Amino acid sequence: MSEANQPGVPDPKAATEPKGVGNDPREQNPDVAEAPGKIWFRDLDEAVIEADRCIQCASCVAACPSDSIGIDAEEKRPTLVKMCTGCSRCWDFCPRSGLRYERALELLEDERSLAEPETYAAQAADEAAEAGQDGGAVTALLAELLEAGKIDGAVVARESDEEPLRGEAFLATSREDLLEAGGSSYTQTMGLGQIDDLLADADLGDDPDLALVGTPCVIQGAAALDRYGHEPADPIALTVALMCTRTFEHERLLSQIESYDVDPEAVEKLDIRAGTLYAYDDGGESLLETDVSEFDAAGLRGCDECADFVGGAADISAGNVGSDEGYSTVVVRTETGREAWTAAAGGLETTEIDRPEALEKIAAWNERRAKSILPRGFDPEGEIGIAYEHHREVYDGTDREPQPLNPARVHQYEEWC
Ligand SMILES: Cc1cc2nc3c(=O)[nH]c(=O)nc-3n(C[C@H](O)[C@H](O)[C@H](O)COP(=O)(O)OP(=O)(O)OC[C@H]3O[C@@H](n4cnc5c(N)ncnc54)[C@H](O)[C@@H]3O)c2cc1C
Ligand code: SF4
Ligand code: SF4
Repeated sequence: MSEANQPGVPDPKAATEPKGVGNDPREQNPDVAEAPGKIWFRDLDEAVIEADRCIQCASCVAACPSDSIGIDAEEKRPTLVKMCTGCSRCWDFCPRSGLRYERALELLEDERSLAEPETYAAQAADEAAEAGQDGGAVTALLAELLEAGKIDGAVVARESDEEPLRGEAFLATSREDLLEAGGSSYTQTMGLGQIDDLLADADLGDDPDLALVGTPCVIQGAAALDRYGHEPADPIALTVALMCTRTFEHERLLSQIESYDVDPEAVEKLDIRAGTLYAYDDGGESLLETDVSEFDAAGLRGCDECADFVGGAADISAGNVGSDEGYSTVVVRTETGREAWTAAAGGLETTEIDRPEALEKIAAWNERRAKSILPRGFDPEGEIGIAYEHHREVYDGTDREPQPLNPARVHQYEEWC
């Protein structure tokens, strides 16, 4: 049976968008809106978090209109912090459950992409080249925009003071902040779910314009919230996706590093380039060089279901694939991205990307992986909302099926869900 003919999922060929009275994926899909009952955060927890499929994008946290979802301080995962109203929005915006992310990407690209996205190999013209992971292009871009008054801050990542190699969300408001935050954090920060808190601690006025940097799934969530007019997206004026095939689960990352007799505390920089993972100390000496596949088991399992290597929902994407060492590969995807890139031109040196075909190759590999792992069909033309019942039909009985709630949390649900 094709996915389109399954209960709760209308024939995509018959779908016209937007339809319905409102702007939510749910309202665009009458069958989803009328599906039996509400979808509670506990349903998302069982289907995604307990099933070890969460990619820590924090879209659910940002999407919750009653701020009922927070971030567990210990486990750094979404958790219920007060009464859930069963509004279902966390489900609707979760790219591992209710949001058909490939459809969202298709819509966003159709609506916003430049006819010819521009691809560059880029390097910061100043000290950002040193501070950055590759060419420092993202750091330089954001620093130039801040200094030109085009943005008031940028939600980026910096390493936790308490835990090695743990990235934390950080609101950078100066060039110095950005230089400090340069480099890649290979763990998620859940920054999308912390924008209000970050702004509350800053003094950026009533209506700040922020850049949001994150992995492609984070930017999918932000762009989907923006498309459907939800408030958490309001401050986000520019999105930058870091190209990505996988993010690591922090504990498993540290264990894997230790298995090579390397102390994670001694690792100043991790780098992944052309299939090899490197670890360096603060003097730039190599501590580890190994095939990145050795770290597969340390990755977030939900990443296997992701086909968005390049960050198709972002205004600008940045990676290293296809460029020589010391350069960032930058794809300017939207008019907003082009304006930002042009405004930052003084801080960047750009040239042609060396191996454009490498970008396409890895994106195609990523999509093949997702298609082979996703229990549901991969359907960029399908309905954007995936009904809970449909999710259960296709995931139940697989090794990605929903799992019972953690007994330690059941009391929360008895009280709040
Ligand atoms: C998890 C992960 C996986 C990646 N995998 C690939 C890959 O397979 N192939 C590839 O070509 N490129 C990959 N990249 C991108 C690459 O590591 C660089 O980020 C990119 O080339 C930009 O380099 P840059 O020197 O211009 O960025 P920089 O100048 O170093 O700026 C990067 C900015 O992003 C912020 N940042 C870093 N990590 C995070 C994070 N996790 N969440 C939010 N903000 C963050 C930093 O604080 C900084 O402000 C990955 C990045 C990440 C985070
Ligand atoms: S994948 Fe993202 S939206 Fe889904 S539960 Fe995890 S953090 Fe929330
Ligand atoms: S591989 Fe995909 S799902 Fe995983 S962190 Fe990267 S963008 Fe997110």
